[in-house]
Amino acid sequence: MSAAAAIALAALAMTAIVGGRYLISSGAFAFATRVRHPGLYRGLEGQMRREIGWSLASAAIYGVPAGVVAWGWQARGWTRIYTDLHAFPLWYLPVSLFAYLLIHDMWFYWTHRLMHRPWLFRIAHAVHHQSRPPTAWAAMSFHPVEAISGAIVIPALVFLIPIHVAALGLVLAIMTVMGVGNHMGWEMFPRALVHGPAGRWLITATHHEAHHAAYRGNYGLYFRFWDKACGTDIGLGSFAAAGRRERADAHSDG
Ligand SMILES: [Zn+2]
Ligand SMILES: [Zn+2]
Repeated sequence: MSAAAAIALAALAMTAIVGGRYLISSGAFAFATRVRHPGLYRGLEGQMRREIGWSLASAAIYGVPAGVVAWGWQARGWTRIYTDLHAFPLWYLPVSLFAYLLIHDMWFYWTHRLMHRPWLFRIAHAVHHQSRPPTAWAAMSFHPVEAISGAIVIPALVFLIPIHVAALGLVLAIMTVMGVGNHMGWEMFPRALVHGPAGRWLITATHHEAHHAAYRGNYGLYFRFWDKACGTDIGLGSFAAAGRRERADAHSDG
């Protein structure tokens, strides 16, 4: 097989993997939402269809650079992904994991803030904010321009910072779970974590909810560091509107 065909095949396979991962993770959290908060997504069927459409388009945009890099890693020895656990000291495993999360968070914060400039918002970010309120299906609901800005981060980092393939898997798992969890309209983490000392620095659904409610502030991805450092942290959200919708649903059923 020619290199071009192998690259195309890898991009296609990665698109299928990213799309499948999205459908499984968002589907699982949407199901959990039906169980835990019945009626929360009532009346949002049209919006959810749009979210799924944009997310599957984003999966293709994420799949292409991931496929090219995966091919280069396997066929050409590109990237600094390693498989021998002892190629680096064991303490390096958590360090590399944190480095990836911190750098991705920084990239996300600044590109996200930029995308809230009116001229760029209309082009690149309005799609994501069309979800009012977002659901578990909105995890990858991005305009292609925004999807590209997100899709290049990890494929670029694997050229720069050595990471064990399992730690990389964990980075992607955290990215997926937080992407879905932060948009599903309720908090999955315990109150003690969200409102305790850890919650002052970690971003969960309660924090990102305030971003979607206010259209400004709380631009971070994993950590509140940049928001706090730059004065854009607007505190935790309340899910008040979601609660009202749920109660209305309970009344209309009963
Ligand atoms: Zn935004
Ligand atoms: Zn969002």
